[in-house]
Amino acid sequence: MTTVPEYFGSLVFDTRVMKARLSGDVYRSLKQTIQKGVKLDPTVADAVASAMKDWAIENGATHFTHWFQPMTGITAEKHDSFISPAPDGRVIMEFSGKELIKGEPDASSFPSGGLRATFEARGYTAWDPTSFAFIKGKTLCIPTAFCSYGGEALDKKTPLLRSMEALNRQALRILKLFGNESVRRVSPSVGAEQEYFLIDKEVYDKRRDLIYTGRTLFGAKPPKGQELDDHYFGPIKPRVEAYMADLNEELWKLGILAKTEHNEVAPSQHELAPIFTTTNIATDQNQLTMEIMQKVAAGHGLVCLLQEKPFAGVNGSGKHNNWSLATDTGVNLLSPGETPYENAQFLLFLVAVVQAVDDYQGLLRAAVATAGNDHRLGANEAPPAVVSVFLGDELTAILEALETDTAYAGVEKKKLKLGVDVLPHFFRDTTDRNRTSPFAFTGNKFEFRMLGSSNSIACANIMLNTAVAESLRQYADELESASDLSTALHDLIQRVIRQHKRIIFNGNGYDDAWIQEATEKRGLLNLRTTPDAIPMLVQKDNMAMLVRHKVFTESELRSRYEIQLENYCKTVRIEALTMVDMARKEILPSVEAYVSDLATAAAAKSTVSEELPWGYEKKLLRKLASLVDTMDGRVDSLEEKLVRLDTLRDTTEEAAFIRDELIPAMGELRAVADESETQTAAKYWPFPTYGELLFSV
Ligand code: ADP
Ligand code: MG
Repeated sequence: MTTVPEYFGSLVFDTRVMKARLSGDVYRSLKQTIQKGVKLDPTVADAVASAMKDWAIENGATHFTHWFQPMTGITAEKHDSFISPAPDGRVIMEFSGKELIKGEPDASSFPSGGLRATFEARGYTAWDPTSFAFIKGKTLCIPTAFCSYGGEALDKKTPLLRSMEALNRQALRILKLFGNESVRRVSPSVGAEQEYFLIDKEVYDKRRDLIYTGRTLFGAKPPKGQELDDHYFGPIKPRVEAYMADLNEELWKLGILAKTEHNEVAPSQHELAPIFTTTNIATDQNQLTMEIMQKVAAGHGLVCLLQEKPFAGVNGSGKHNNWSLATDTGVNLLSPGETPYENAQFLLFLVAVVQAVDDYQGLLRAAVATAGNDHRLGANEAPPAVVSVFLGDELTAILEALETDTAYAGVEKKKLKLGVDVLPHFFRDTTDRNRTSPFAFTGNKFEFRMLGSSNSIACANIMLNTAVAESLRQYADELESASDLSTALHDLIQRVIRQHKRIIFNGNGYDDAWIQEATEKRGLLNLRTTPDAIPMLVQKDNMAMLVRHKVFTESELRSRYEIQLENYCKTVRIEALTMVDMARKEILPSVEAYVSDLATAAAAKSTVSEELPWGYEKKLLRKLASLVDTMDGRVDSLEEKLVRLDTLRDTTEEAAFIRDELIPAMGELRAVADESETQTAAKYWPFPTYGELLFSV
């Protein structure tokens, strides 16, 4: 197979393959299951499984796996081969409907936040037929949800599917009010732009911080960083181009619509954006994309870094979650319409999102909270930790006119009457210029820009879907009982704008003055770190909302609170331990070796002649000896804090200690080590410098 259309999706058990390989009846039942969630008949399941197996074997597979997304944030798989002993001592290849529909991985080592005691190790995986099975290597991967036997979600997919259901339910109520009876399903659509770094494998292998933590914990600023802006959209180097070509091919085979690729702001930083699709598929595909990115890199002698902040001093990597609402009839509900009626409907969905972001800022912030992302948010390279919505001047002016019943100063200068007037045409371009906003309307979709590059996009979309479902639920409750829809709609939209306009901000999100205004005047949340943000998951109103829409139970939320904080604690603890190790075993001995050589040189000079000057050695020796002592003291102090950390028993307490004590101590150790680097001769420095890492490809 040579051309892209020929091999696109060749490793996916998609509609085309299903149609070709299943009998008409089986295909129709499966379609019912995919589209409407109808339970699959066991005989149909057997037929589907058998066709899947034959197709997989023809494409080189020997194993199958239930592919799932536990709370670790990455995907999990346990391979089982298709082989089954035959009476003649040989084997046949088998795969049953039962194996397709349900799996029982021994799940005792996945984080459950107390939901599943270790002795109750059993969890089960259930096939998600809405996401196609695919082949990875020699394994048929079946996308699944992962639950405990009590039915609690142990993964990121289950609540995501539930949130899509909640949103569908409420959006259909609204569409019905507008007389839209033909729409059967409303699905959130997502396109996730993925940033990453590529560095040479040889330099990577010499940095234990990169190996253990995915980011550099030491490293002085190189003479050149990103200040010239010469990397962003710059020409792609041949080695990176070859990587991207291979990556695209792998992704296309898996049916992933990889579309755009370019160099990003920092040296060695790049981005890949796919064409958007339904949220749960976009989520599966983003997980797969991250995995394939790393795998393909290895084949090119490269390493793909997905950590949010691999290097201090240059931009970190994020993920832009482009989000909209699509009907099964092909309409984008966040696209301004051509008729007055469509416009009123558009405005209602628009303000529903604005209200959702305002009411549930905390949940959106918590959804992107990780130790890695804490380094980016608010660091003038990514949006601040304060959530706000950018609508652009024109749309904001339209909302203002509606709010105050005054003339819209746009093209026609007249009062806008909902349900009667067509919206003035505003240009998509004017809506997309503000890159500093965490949540921007970009013409026909919203772009949530706070996600970290390694985050699963599931979390952000669960919160977004459910929060919008909640706005829509309130509107539907109110409008369904209204006698005059037009008036009720007008009043409702006006009220929502009044109540929630504080979240709209079109200015520069990086400006300190904004943070002050947001927190002091507008009362918006500024949750700067993960330990500040995660408690939002169990805050009373947030929890009630998520429970109301059946997206989480209270115990699921408490378990997620526990897991996310625990993950933060473990991540930073590993980083601190790595720093201690590198400082003690690599940096201090190296600087000391240099000190010793300098001292020898000085002593040698003095034996040749008392008159020989040795000011250079003396100056450096004084400086380095002092840095070495300071560094040693700071390593001691960090170690001492690590010992104290290990005495704490409560996750919340641990997280606070890490934020307030451990991270500052890590910063202090890094500062002195980085200063030593600038004073130490290159050949003594124990590992590749920032310059060598950032310009390694
Ligand atoms: P830009 O960020 O420069 O505006 P695009 O508008 O082309 O770029 O799209 C960025 C991302 O948004 C792409 O992944 C694209 O597929 C996605 N996107 C476009 N339309 C929608 C939509 N209706 N719903 C969700 N994502 C969308
Ligand atoms: Mg974008």
